[in-house]
Amino acid sequence: MECTQVRAQLDAYDDGELDAAAAKRLEEHLTECPDCLQAEEQLSVLRRAARKHAAYYPAPEALRERLASILGSRDRPHWRRAVTMRWWQLGAVLSATATASVLCTLLVLSGAPPRGEEKLADELVASHVRSLMQDHLLDVASTDQHTVKPWFAGKLDYSPPVRDLSAAGFPLLGGRLDYVHDRPVAVLVYQRRQHRINVYVWPERGGALPHSHAMTRNGYNAVGWVASGMVFWAVSDLNAAELAQLEDLSRRENG
Ligand SMILES: [Zn+2]
Repeated sequence: MECTQVRAQLDAYDDGELDAAAAKRLEEHLTECPDCLQAEEQLSVLRRAARKHAAYYPAPEALRERLASILGSRDRPHWRRAVTMRWWQLGAVLSATATASVLCTLLVLSGAPPRGEEKLADELVASHVRSLMQDHLLDVASTDQHTVKPWFAGKLDYSPPVRDLSAAGFPLLGGRLDYVHDRPVAVLVYQRRQHRINVYVWPERGGALPHSHAMTRNGYNAVGWVASGMVFWAVSDLNAAELAQLEDLSRRENG
């Protein structure tokens, strides 16, 4: 007997569906072929485990109908037996699928930002929109980081790092004071083509933002990160990929 023939008949063999002569030929092959013997053992281990642990449910009528049409006419007596005998296998597949989807959910959840950050992102996007609508984008208009940085002195109890990133295509427009996250914060304003980018900066107080987070709110992108003891949040209608570039630049400059 060929290995491929044996593998094709293993299910039926395990289910006791082979006639005596066919079962004997298959068993003879198993005594000579360690690979097929291993396949047979794995199959029966899986089968025992499935029988022991799997939940059993009656197949819904629609599924029975579909299986019947796949397996052939309902008139052939074999289909019903095939459906019954293979039901544990379907159970194993379904429970594997369920496990996979639970794993996916866990992965998605572990990648999701905590609720506090979601709220913060909402607040930052609202502030960003307000700054554009009320034409209060800049308190200090200057492309010179050496002008913008000292402007914050005396207005805040910290000194935000200010970098002009025009060489990388993100010219600095200036800065302003804003009130978010229950405190006055420094905002650095950058430009990318026609897009304005507000970068909110405040000192990290520990425990916040272990790694960068990107979020989307009403068509605006927000990305937060930590560098040199400061929390940065960039908000813009610029696409997420280019906003991530700004994050990379800032991390490098403030690393
Ligand atoms: Zn074999």
